Formats: sequence, C-alpha cells, structure tokens
Amino acid sequence: MTHTGYSRERSVALQAVREATALCRAVQAQITPDILSKKDRSPVTVADFGSQALVCRAIREAFPDDPIIAEEDSAALRENPAILDQVVSHVAAQRPGVDAETVRAWIDYGGAQDYSERFWTLDPIDGTKGFLRREQYAIALALIVGGEVQVAVLACPNLPPTPDAEETGVVYVAVRGQGAFRVPLDGDGEPMPVRTSDLRVPAHARFCESVEAGHTSHNDAAEVAARLGITADPVRLDSQAKYAVVARGEADIYMRLPTRPGYVEKIWDHAAGSLVVTEAGGRVTDIHGKPLAFDQGWGLQQNRGVIVTNGPLHDQVIAALKAVGVQ
Ligand code: AMP
Ligand code: MG
Repeated sequence: MTHTGYSRERSVALQAVREATALCRAVQAQITPDILSKKDRSPVTVADFGSQALVCRAIREAFPDDPIIAEEDSAALRENPAILDQVVSHVAAQRPGVDAETVRAWIDYGGAQDYSERFWTLDPIDGTKGFLRREQYAIALALIVGGEVQVAVLACPNLPPTPDAEETGVVYVAVRGQGAFRVPLDGDGEPMPVRTSDLRVPAHARFCESVEAGHTSHNDAAEVAARLGITADPVRLDSQAKYAVVARGEADIYMRLPTRPGYVEKIWDHAAGSLVVTEAGGRVTDIHGKPLAFDQGWGLQQNRGVIVTNGPLHDQVIAALKAVGVQ
C-alpha cells in the first residue's frame, strides 16, 4: 500500500469528533442543579450513546471495512425507551431525519471487541463523572494499525486551549511520525504544534491524576511523588484531558496506579491520549516501564497501570515506583 500519511483518516476522525462534541455540549447545557442534586446519570447516558452513534456513523461511512471497538452497546437502550428518545432527538439535531432503529444500528457499529490488523477505538465520553460535574471530559478516537496507534483525535470540550485562555474547548490531533497538534474545536484555524516540557528535575514536576480514587491509587501516587521530592499537590482532573495537559507541557507526569489486582485498563481510555503525548515528545508505558500493547483487543491485558511523562523524567518515575514498592 502506498503511504498516505493517514490524511483522510485524520480528517474524517476530526470531523466526527467535532460533531459528537456538539452533541455532548447540547446535552451538558441541559444539566440543571436539580439533576445534579438527584445524582441523575441520564444526561451522561444520553450523551454517551449519542456521541458513539455519530462517531461510528462517520467512520463506517468513510471506512466501511474498519471494525470499531467502542465503549457502549445499544442493548441497554432496549429497556429504556425514554432515554432512547432523547438520544435520537440529540442525534437528529446533528443528522436530521434519523430514526431510532438507525441510531441503534450506528451505536452497534462500535461493537467489535477483538483485535484486528486495522481498527478504531472510541470512548464517546471519557470521564463521565467530570461530564456530570461540568468539569473535564473527552471524546477520544484512535486508529490502530498493526498493533500501534497511528491516528489520534482527542477533544476536550471544557479545557481552555491554552492554560490562560478564557474560552474552553480544544482538540488534540496526532498522526504517528507527524507530531501532535492543537486545533480549534469549532471552525477553522491553523494546527499549532504541542510539545511536552523539558523538565529534568523531578522535584519540580507537576503531576496529575484521576479525580476518582477508585480509578487510581492516590496514596501510592503520593508516596511516589514524595520519593521524587515533589512537594506540589497533584492536579486532579477527569478523562484523557490528563494526557492533553502533559502533551502541552502544563504538567510533567500523569500516574495511573492500580487500585486492585485484576483491573484491565481499556484501550479506549488510553489509545488517543498516548499517541498525542508520544508525538508531543513524551513517553507512555505501564508501571513496569513496558509499552502499552494495543494488540490484545478491548483491553491492555499485558500491562498494569499507566505512566505518562514529558520524556526526560520517565526513567526516574519508573525507578521511584520500584523503590516504594508499587511495581
Ligand atoms: P478518569 O477520568 O481518568 O478517572 O478515568 C475514567 C475511566 O476510568 C473510565 O473510562 C473507566 O473506563 C475507567 N475505570 C473504571 N474503573 C477503573 C479502575 N478500577 N481502575 C482504572 N480505571 C478505571
Ligand atoms: Mg473512559
């Protein structure tokens, strides 16, 4: 096959993720304090299915032979006609005239589970808790070919494009070998290259981790940080926005440390973010320093936890994990 540079894949994926973001924002705008106080999760359910429907439709139309390993399947909607109605109306706002049967079919294009030579993986809303709190969440889409992430599109609708920007919303796009770029979420604009920091002194590192103590061990991370001489508090944020802040040099380390034996990280939680960081100059491995193996199907069965750094700090973080007994 001639080398295409994946330009068509990149542009289809970017357009698909932008459309899904519009849906997520429309749903999020309807979250009222009342919904929040009732701990009603229906908005995230609606946005999750709606986002998956739109992205899978776009990928299937452009690349009909590509399987998609996505987080959701439409079976749950069968027993929930009220939610399905809402999903359909939000999807129809982007794709007028669509009916419920078609929306369910689009969602189920994302039903692949097993490894293949070329496939996509999608997290339609990564960071569901952040979405409900109106904090950070992401729409993460990646193309994997030959077991390696080749194209990544990571939309962060609530992240300012630069740390001091007043507006929110940015997309990070990376193609293997071509660098990582920030592009506007809405409208046109030149892609701007992003680079990780060049910090080499671990004590000065800014590290980030999940908000959710159930998704990463805050205690173990605090021990590792102390071992590295880090005195600053961790920055906690939901979703692959953590990969984005490392990619753009705003943080230097992201640690995701197992909370229990046997948890298998999902590929859709890491594929897009990991290429954005490595193309920005950083490194991504598991807690043992092993590369993430994207050739196992839906999960990272060969790996434990995830460690993301600016690059220069990586070996020191892995050594600190070993020293405090987290490995
Ligand atoms: P975050 O926003 O970084 O907290 O990560 C959100 C993701 O955590 C979700 O997409 C889940 O797939 C994933 N997740 C759920 N349970 C666990 C767990 N026990 N350990 C690690 N990740 C988890
Ligand atoms: Mg997720």
